[in-house]
Amino acid sequence: MTIQSKNPATGEVVKTFEALTEAQIDLAIAQSVVAHEALRDWSFKKRAACMEKAAKILEDESPCIAEIMTMEMGKTLASAKGEVEKCAWVCRYYAETAEAHLADDIVKTDATKSYRCYRPLGPVLAVMPWNYPLWQVFRFAAPALMAGNTGLLKHASNVPQSALLIQDIFQRAGFPDGAFQTLLIGGSQVEQILRDDRVRAATLTGSEPAGASVASICGEEIKPTVLELGGSDAFIVMPSADLDEAVKVGTTSRTQNNGQSCIAAKRFIIHADIYDGFKAKMVEAFADLTIGDPMDDATDIGPLVSVEARATIDGQVQKALKAGAIRVMGAEIMDGDGAFYRPGILENISEDSDAYHEEVFGPVALLFKVDDIEAAIKLANDSPFGLGSSVWTTDKAEQDQAIRDLEAGATFVNSMTSSDPRLPFGGIKRSGYGRELTAEGIRAFCNCKTVSIA
Ligand code: NAP
Repeated sequence: MTIQSKNPATGEVVKTFEALTEAQIDLAIAQSVVAHEALRDWSFKKRAACMEKAAKILEDESPCIAEIMTMEMGKTLASAKGEVEKCAWVCRYYAETAEAHLADDIVKTDATKSYRCYRPLGPVLAVMPWNYPLWQVFRFAAPALMAGNTGLLKHASNVPQSALLIQDIFQRAGFPDGAFQTLLIGGSQVEQILRDDRVRAATLTGSEPAGASVASICGEEIKPTVLELGGSDAFIVMPSADLDEAVKVGTTSRTQNNGQSCIAAKRFIIHADIYDGFKAKMVEAFADLTIGDPMDDATDIGPLVSVEARATIDGQVQKALKAGAIRVMGAEIMDGDGAFYRPGILENISEDSDAYHEEVFGPVALLFKVDDIEAAIKLANDSPFGLGSSVWTTDKAEQDQAIRDLEAGATFVNSMTSSDPRLPFGGIKRSGYGRELTAEGIRAFCNCKTVSIA
């Protein structure tokens, strides 16, 4: 099996790699165990020094790293640089906070002394997607390594160069050999790793089928998992909202990363009194976007990740149109080389169309009209997903109702959903389970051990 770097802006195959053999995977797991035995005995201070170094390497080499990401999956160079900086942030965040997050927690009982402490589990497999080739990995790796675990990365098959870069960064940062290894393998080779007793846990960020497959194997093997899956986030706008700001932020949320973000606003649920105004302003904002070479600083939107992904999104749009949706603008394949897709807006989406229930993983906004906050929340919750959500209103009662009743892992008020190392991140329903980032993220792959001394 081969694994390829293919530039989605041109269709050119840039580099090809051979997938690892079973024996090579076995050796990598053995090295991961040895590295864990060393790393678990390191002090937090020593681990933190390496993590700080990783942050510095990311910052120093940001332009070069960003170029590789852009070439492999088409995000704009500016957003790739922003992603590298965010990775440096999460490294520093855990370098500074890991010890406190994992400190012994004394509990008063009948014993002389009792407390909970956190111990690392060992090698953890991370199965990761291509859409944020560095961020998705670092938000797992920084807490995992700071806790004393080791990481085995199975990255998406289309970003092998980004994947190898990450291993190189942790190695140069001074972590023990084998503490973080990139395994160039396909999805079918994941089972061998999950069934290996030496691997203690797994995390997957990606689609529902991939998540279900990994979680069911881990279920049989009794191994903990964290799943970060898809989303179809609601973006509710009520009459009291600042309309211009809501349109501006909503457009960014839907189109950033070329429309391929799990927490992008995907369903815009707009109060009837402001629906026409919102739509008109959003059409203007979408029309202003510059589509083109993602390496060019002037570009807002690069290509989708592949022509296959573009065909999937266009298929969802075509089916929605057949089921009665109205194309307000765009949402069409662009001529020429590369996987370019014109950002678009649809309205009048029927409950019977797939697009109503599925995640649309490209720059297509779905508009819905509602009469009040109850109807907005009901529609927002009428989704198999529950990742993020955003509500725009200055009415305190509406804010409180949305915070209380929206079925999602996060509710952002008068801003777009985003991730931040200081806040937990994750979903409910078919968006997955478990949390990344902050204390939850580092404790996810630790044994929360009870200690009682008579
Ligand atoms: P994907 O097809 O599920 O791939 C994700 C990873 O899983 C890749 O490494 C892939 O490897 C691997 N994989 C696929 N099928 C597998 C299987 N049966 N067993 C083991 N591994 C398997 O998802 P994607 O298209 O790359 O990513 C887009 C999806 O990720 C969207 O749904 C998006 O919303 C979601 N996502 C969620 C979050 C979050 O935090 N909740 C963040 C980012 C993205 P190959 O590449 O080799 O197939």
